[in-house]
Amino acid sequence: MCGATVLLFSLATGLHAADNKKNPDKIGQRNVASGLNRYSVEQELALGRQLAAEVEKQAKIVTDPIIAEYVNRLGQNLTRNSDTVFPMTFRLLESDEINAFTLPGGYVFISTGLLKLSDNEAELASVIAYELAHAAARHATRQATRSDLINAGKLPLLLTGGLAGIAARQALGPVSAMAFYHFSREYETEADLLGLQYLWKAGYDPTASVDMFERVESTEKAKPGSVSQLFRTHPRTAARIEQTQKNIEALLPSRAEHILNTSEYESIREQLLKASPK
Ligand SMILES: [Zn+2]
Repeated sequence: MCGATVLLFSLATGLHAADNKKNPDKIGQRNVASGLNRYSVEQELALGRQLAAEVEKQAKIVTDPIIAEYVNRLGQNLTRNSDTVFPMTFRLLESDEINAFTLPGGYVFISTGLLKLSDNEAELASVIAYELAHAAARHATRQATRSDLINAGKLPLLLTGGLAGIAARQALGPVSAMAFYHFSREYETEADLLGLQYLWKAGYDPTASVDMFERVESTEKAKPGSVSQLFRTHPRTAARIEQTQKNIEALLPSRAEHILNTSEYESIREQLLKASPK
């Protein structure tokens, strides 16, 4: 092929990939993590395992078997309706701060504060689906790859182990290392797009995503500081909320019934509220 043909070919496949990302019928058969990444799936898993062990050492994880099993089952159900290549782990952090984050390799953490803030299972699932989308698209290591390349001239990051190296050398704890996860707007938009489809494919009412977005925003406005700094690096802007509304109308086939809530969710939320009110 001549150069122009190769360029046209890659443009066409690039467009095709972008279309697939908007087609919920293709979930699980499309590569949503394509793009430059110098970390293999195995390397990313190993890095995530290490960082997750650090978080679990420093933070308090909810070990109540019924609650922990519920959160994990909810996450695994969304995982089956997603594009992720990672074996996903979902843990609940004992914290009133509203927080959710994903480590490399598919380790998702959400706080009890976030669970208590949500109003139904679909809203809770919308946040988990969004975090799952960051993992499926491998945003953490793609972002690290970009930063490594940008900084390659100044810091020999390529030789010192990327993310883990940065954390170790600057003596940052894992939570500070996670501040690194200030994703580009492009990645946030992509996580919104993919997470919304996972939520829908798992049977949930996709408008719960908009409701939850707005709930987080209004809570932070009413009580500044109640949303964690980390979660706020992924701001729920009006533009993102509007785009999600558009995506619901344009991309998701309508359906007679959606799941909005379950009695299991209600009893678990009640139990958490009793232990520590909002
Ligand atoms: Zn995000």
